[in-house]
Amino acid sequence: MSSYVKNKGLLCKAQGCHQNAVCKGFCTKHYQQLKLRGKLLEKDYVFIQGFCKILGCGRKVFAKDLCQTHYKKTKGNSHAD
Ligand SMILES: [Zn+2]
Ligand SMILES: [Zn+2]
Repeated sequence: MSSYVKNKGLLCKAQGCHQNAVCKGFCTKHYQQLKLRGKLLEKDYVFIQGFCKILGCGRKVFAKDLCQTHYKKTKGNSHAD
């Protein structure tokens, strides 16, 4: 109940999660998810390395290493417009 925060500068690796990392770089919740499921729940995280593979895009991965925009473009290749 003090304003003093002990902080080693280690936060959970799951993006958007600001809990202190307690194990392998994850907070308790996310570490449990990894332990139980072998991966994090998709809705609950975006890995920092999860960026679109298209050079210079920089958007977050939506599917198959592509962002939503590029994924749709790839998928829509067979669709003549
Ligand atoms: Zn976390
Ligand atoms: Zn992209």
